[in-house]
Amino acid sequence: MSREPLDQSRKLVTELPGPKAREMRESLDTYVPKGVSPSMPAFAARAEGGIVEDVDGNRLIDLGSGIAVTTVGASHPKVVEAVQEQVADFTHTCFMVTPYDSYTRLAKRLDEVVPISGQTRSVLLNSGAEAVENAVKVARAYTGKQAIAAFDNAYHGRTTLTMGLTAKNMPYKESFGPFAPELYRVPGSYPYRDGLSGEEAAQRTIESLESQIGANNLAAVIMEPIQGEGGFIVPAEGFLAKVVEWCKANDVLFIADEVQTGFTRTGEWFASTTEGIEPDLITLAKGIAGGMPLSAVTGRAEVMDAVHAGGLGGTYGGNPVAVAAGLASLQVMEEEGLADKAKHIGEVITEHFTQAQKEDSRIGDIRGRGAMMAIEFVDPETKEPLAKLVNDIAVEARKQGVITLTAGTYGNVLRFLPPVVIGEDLLKEGLSVITDILADM
Ligand SMILES: *Cc1c(COP(=O)(O)O)cnc(C)c1O
Repeated sequence: MSREPLDQSRKLVTELPGPKAREMRESLDTYVPKGVSPSMPAFAARAEGGIVEDVDGNRLIDLGSGIAVTTVGASHPKVVEAVQEQVADFTHTCFMVTPYDSYTRLAKRLDEVVPISGQTRSVLLNSGAEAVENAVKVARAYTGKQAIAAFDNAYHGRTTLTMGLTAKNMPYKESFGPFAPELYRVPGSYPYRDGLSGEEAAQRTIESLESQIGANNLAAVIMEPIQGEGGFIVPAEGFLAKVVEWCKANDVLFIADEVQTGFTRTGEWFASTTEGIEPDLITLAKGIAGGMPLSAVTGRAEVMDAVHAGGLGGTYGGNPVAVAAGLASLQVMEEEGLADKAKHIGEVITEHFTQAQKEDSRIGDIRGRGAMMAIEFVDPETKEPLAKLVNDIAVEARKQGVITLTAGTYGNVLRFLPPVVIGEDLLKEGLSVITDILADM
């Protein structure tokens, strides 16, 4: 089914929300619980490249990719074709019952691209949280130990286990406890706020691991190489390498949660590469399949094989349609050089806000890597987080047709996760809308 390409320009033909979106929102509020609360004042009709077109005919600039999912765009022709072909062949057999080779081919592709040397094996699942859950299961089975350490400002999902690993209470954990046992939280590295070098921060982390948990009890340390929901916190140089070194010396596994940082988003296939670390296990989702629900745990063969036959799986894990999208997405990333494009996006965003920062000292920190960039807004005198300002900017940007996400433990971070295929002019226009709003506030 071929269609007219979606014009890659912002255009507002109604106020946002438009009349159709208003009606749909009323219906949404009737039938969908308020715990599920979309932020855009628009309903999607189509999406392609850097544009989401809404039901009222407005074209919005996408600076979120859902949340870091549509790296290759939300309807890349190669992904669409792969999905359509697979749907016509079969939608499901359950891989645990009747396997299909595409699952294995994707596992082989992951083996080629992940930053783990030697043979890896992969289990395919449905969501990021499910990948994290399974990485924890594998780590416990392999080590025979139980404790899992996560970091301040971490985000690992919303299921009962992963909520416990996630740091931020509101909205993720409030009223949902008790959480799973044997999950511990240790300080990480947040150079803008803690002022520590990588070495110093790692020393603090290791002291915490040793004094509060003990390597004899610790199955794994899990960390996002750049913390996502926590505010795109890039650890100080050398921090991760030191922590991984301690893990290896103490028979503790290191799990890199690359659900958000993975698949070219940060300018390499994976952020672990930039940090020079080699995880034992890596959790993957979001960008993996052009928007189809798919996730994976990839790890050293010896570690993955610690689980008994039948111990890993699930009804839908590695659904063939999602796998077809995954294979096509990885091909697009390679063919279109998306890692380099992501690096360039990082330069454009950095340049734009470095200019803006000269006139506005509320722009406290510009950080991130590649197409995963964020701005932390603070009171210039006290560094107090300016959460209300960030919320106001995001709300106004959305009304002006720019899909904008916030983040941060204190809610004072604007984050940019555009589809990596976005055109440069469109990206710059989106950024200008935001700095114009800022200038007015
Ligand atoms: C989004 C995210 C998750 C959870 O993924 P879901 O697909 O929403 O379950 C886990 N870890 C990180 C780092 C994430 O960004």
